[in-house]
Amino acid sequence: MQTKVVKFGGSSLADAAQFRKVAAIIKAEPERRYVVASAPGKRFSDDIKVTDMLYDCFDLASKKENIDEAFAKIEARYNGIIADLGLDFSLDKEFRKIRMAIEHHAGQDYVASRGEYLNSMILAKFLGFTFVDAESGIFFHSNGTFDDKQTYKALSALLEDVEYAVIPGFYGSMPNGTIKTFSRGGSDVTGAIVARAVHASIYENWTDVSGMLMADPRLVENPKVIEEITYRELRELAYMGATVMHEEAIFPVREACIPINIRNTNSPADPGTMIVPKSDRPVPTVITGVAGRKGFSSITIEKDRMNTEVGFGRKVLGVLEDFGVSFEHTPTGIDTMSVVVSTSSITDCKEALIGRIFRDANADSVTIDDNMALIAIVGRGMVSNKGTAGRAFTAIANRNINIRMIDQGSGENNIIVGVDEDDYTAALQAIYGAFVGEA
Ligand code: ADP
Ligand code: ASP
Ligand code: MG
Repeated sequence: MQTKVVKFGGSSLADAAQFRKVAAIIKAEPERRYVVASAPGKRFSDDIKVTDMLYDCFDLASKKENIDEAFAKIEARYNGIIADLGLDFSLDKEFRKIRMAIEHHAGQDYVASRGEYLNSMILAKFLGFTFVDAESGIFFHSNGTFDDKQTYKALSALLEDVEYAVIPGFYGSMPNGTIKTFSRGGSDVTGAIVARAVHASIYENWTDVSGMLMADPRLVENPKVIEEITYRELRELAYMGATVMHEEAIFPVREACIPINIRNTNSPADPGTMIVPKSDRPVPTVITGVAGRKGFSSITIEKDRMNTEVGFGRKVLGVLEDFGVSFEHTPTGIDTMSVVVSTSSITDCKEALIGRIFRDANADSVTIDDNMALIAIVGRGMVSNKGTAGRAFTAIANRNINIRMIDQGSGENNIIVGVDEDDYTAALQAIYGAFVGEA
């Protein structure tokens, strides 16, 4: 029998009705043996994810404030699910332990991780599967990076004799035994790691949309579903804000050539999106998708005859390295160089950074402009289609939007456009409209 690993996100496990849908999906195929679960997500748009409630509890405790009310709300979320599912099961002992740990200033990651821990216990009970704690199977190095060797060895051994299991997403253990989480949305990463560890035939990632869409559905009405996308394209889009899947979830499965299928828990008959190493299918549209993010700044350095000065770029980037700032793009002219960075990475060191670049690069002027949004137009079809950039730029210009930066990836798989944050939504809609139809 083949083995499928299935990961269900927060909205798929937000209440008892969602749990029932999830159980029906899992039970429909005996190959769906290993289930990775998120913490309960939002049940409606103003709702609060349990993970966010846990972060709030941690903040209250660290300010030495009372957590009674905040923690009671978390208990109520889980107790509601247990009661509505009619389970003969109590988490009271766990609640007491966690609550005490928070009051005694347990680490932030431990506190946040309890969202998936508790939800996975309920799901295991509901399905009649074994609960396998991620703390015994997923490991980090002491510098906080993922320890693949130890993880795959331990996780494969742990699951070898377990026919059906639920494993909490989002976290693992540090060498000293404390809990560490991946970054937000990290249950996708856990799912990919489990898929790799058990040599799954497929990694199904179940969420609340019918696959990866050509644009963020919160910005473009009814965007088309992408039927097939390569790992590379998905990573570009995920990194730039197509948050349907964590961009780090690609690596574990890509190395083992395990395809990912993004599916919709609320519409399980939809085929969703297949994420594959390479696609030979003709692309239905020139672009595969468009995604973007706000929160970037452009550092512009001017210096006469910069083009003739060997090592100028190195000096500028060396300063950024000293400040621990990573850069996104470096568009250059003959007397100017711009470096695009995330605004949050320079907020605390702006003035010092300007001073050092002035000094080290002997610049004529250094300025920083904030409030830039970046939009990535991604597609393997762009290599063989002329005029893609022109079409995108014309569409943006027709909406009277000024382009602040342009960059094209050397693989011709992506074009990055920088615009003012205020123009972000309109520019993204214009690009989608130009390639797919008016948004
Ligand atoms: P889960 O809780 O299942 O992990 P997420 O909320 O992390 O789900 O991701 C799914 C959400 O990603 C969708 O509801 C949608 O709002 C958002 N999203 C943003 N960009 C895209 C895109 N290009 N395609 C699909 N969903 C997207
Ligand atoms: N619950 C975690 C979060 O909200 C992880 C996840 O859902 O993937 O970020
Ligand atoms: Mg997610």
